[in-house]
Amino acid sequence: MPTETFEFQVEARQLLQLMIHSVYSNKDVFLRELVSNASDALDKLRLAALRQDGLDADTSDLHIEIEADPDARTLTVRDNGIGMSYDEVGKLIGTIANSGTAEFLKELEEAKDAAGAEGLIGQFGVGFYSGFMVADEMTLVTRRAGESKGTRWSSRGEGTYTLESVEDAPQGTAVTLHLKPADPENQLHDYTSTWTIKEIVKRYSDFITWPIRLVPGTKGEGEGEETPGPETLNSMKALWARSRDEVSDDEYHELYKHVSHDWRDPLETIRLQAEGTFEYQALLFLPEHAPHDLFTRDFRRGLQLYVKRVLIMDDCEALLPPYLRFVKGVVDAQDLSLNVSREILQQDRHIRMIQRRLTKKVLASVKEMKTADSAKYATFWREFGAVVKEGLLGDADNRDAILAVASFASTHSADEPTTLQQYVERMKDGQDDIYYMTGESRQAIENSPHMEAFRARGVEVLLLTDPVDEVWVDAVGEFDGKRLRSVAKGEIDLDVQGGEQAEGEREKQAEEYAGLLGWMKEQLGEDVKDVRLSTRLTVSPACVVSDAHDLTPALENMYRAMGQEVPPTKRILELNPAHALVRSLNEAYQEREDRTELVETAELLHGLAVLAEGGQPKEPARFVKLVAERLEHGLR
Ligand code: ADP
Repeated sequence: MPTETFEFQVEARQLLQLMIHSVYSNKDVFLRELVSNASDALDKLRLAALRQDGLDADTSDLHIEIEADPDARTLTVRDNGIGMSYDEVGKLIGTIANSGTAEFLKELEEAKDAAGAEGLIGQFGVGFYSGFMVADEMTLVTRRAGESKGTRWSSRGEGTYTLESVEDAPQGTAVTLHLKPADPENQLHDYTSTWTIKEIVKRYSDFITWPIRLVPGTKGEGEGEETPGPETLNSMKALWARSRDEVSDDEYHELYKHVSHDWRDPLETIRLQAEGTFEYQALLFLPEHAPHDLFTRDFRRGLQLYVKRVLIMDDCEALLPPYLRFVKGVVDAQDLSLNVSREILQQDRHIRMIQRRLTKKVLASVKEMKTADSAKYATFWREFGAVVKEGLLGDADNRDAILAVASFASTHSADEPTTLQQYVERMKDGQDDIYYMTGESRQAIENSPHMEAFRARGVEVLLLTDPVDEVWVDAVGEFDGKRLRSVAKGEIDLDVQGGEQAEGEREKQAEEYAGLLGWMKEQLGEDVKDVRLSTRLTVSPACVVSDAHDLTPALENMYRAMGQEVPPTKRILELNPAHALVRSLNEAYQEREDRTELVETAELLHGLAVLAEGGQPKEPARFVKLVAERLEHGLR
């Protein structure tokens, strides 16, 4: 087959441009990326050999090799791992499948300046392509384990790459960088120097569980001396098996970057050593930023599962519940079968035991973080709170632990979230319930008429804006013996003090308005469940509320979006008897024989109430027409 030339995908080309003009100042990390890919390839080969009897592959001496040639100015990173087929090279190296990439490039375009771009590269990482920060040409020769032919890929990073079949490629992958000219000012970053290579490997890749060997013949400090055999540069010690004081934070962070493909440091590192009959170690990380696809179906969750230092599964979901799916890390268990399938793992008693333990440990760490480092906790909760709250629905065992680390926006403070405990401590005398309101945004909720009486009386309301909030509040029901109550649902009795006087007042109003309310209910027909006087309004004329046990509109929409059939829920229209418009309407109702015009007023009042909570009147065009007529009338 002749050499074929291909164009890079648009996204890939943009990224390459960025690498070639290398706005990223820490160029050393390209070696970490290549070594990380090589290590993954070795893991994959071992897993394949484990699962696939008769795979024609050599697994006798799996390792990574680094070879530098100062005269030719090349650096090669070689592995004898899984390799890639011709098609795979085109697919994996020629395109960028990573779902975050599109997002990345969009933000990059917006960043414009170099500093912004640098920050973004540090956030997203670009794996293989980072080689172009230091090389003006890259060549990759690879042969997939079990196949006979190899593939050679080559590119100067400028828009095209070439592919050709090769006959004599060894199993695995060799990536050769044709380095940019040396900078005499900057010896530290001469990547053909043994010293530099050793430093970088030690710094970024020491924990890699495969030997990383420096091929002799590479220029050493004592040039001309007899070169000894290949030298293994990394200690290969599993970080999770070493004691805490033996391992630096930086080393943990590098492991995090390797398992997560994140270029940033983690927010928190969590260690766990379980002794006894079923022994295992875990090293978990909380990222600092939520990935873009956290709420999508194809989000890849799961920890790496090792059995006695051997990786047996790359993304084992069974180790953590879905609501902790953002946690990254490694679990190494002593007594599991090496050849265990995902399905069996889901059922495995030991795995379930580990899951329970890890869940408690993660929640306990967040709790500790909350007291020890509130800024760090705030970051965590901002990024992952919406996911963690999903646990309030499914995980009854840990409900209290989750509530203990949860915090919520509240009318108490514009920027400081509150815990439920703090809310309860601030409750007014005679207040029995914890009030909340759900909605699109803090602003939308605060402007909603339902909040009026609470604001007027200084009663604190939790402002819940995550979609999951609609659901967990119902599932949880109460905290510390106090009911969780929506300010937009059911009847609200805020007259905690002076109850009797208010009671008398209300009875009188009920009598005065009884006629109007019944008439309006009749006129609005199917559009309302009931019409009644409100105790929650002080400024607005009307609002719509849900009955105590009915679905809220947001929930209704959510179920529909999930494809479930739900009958439309009718809402209750509440009128504010203290509002001039409502009073006048009542008077007109009592005085007039012909109520045609009042029917429209009733309709408008209902439409206004729906609008005020962010909804839409049933027939917007008709609503607009009626309002316009009334406005015009007012000007006459
Ligand atoms: P990432 O490693 O984040 O997936 P890269 O751009 O570094 O992104 O690599 C893209 C893909 O190319 C990898 O996911 C892997 O499938 C493949 N690949 C890269 N390097 C190697 C290698 N040394 N051996 C086998 N496959 C590799």
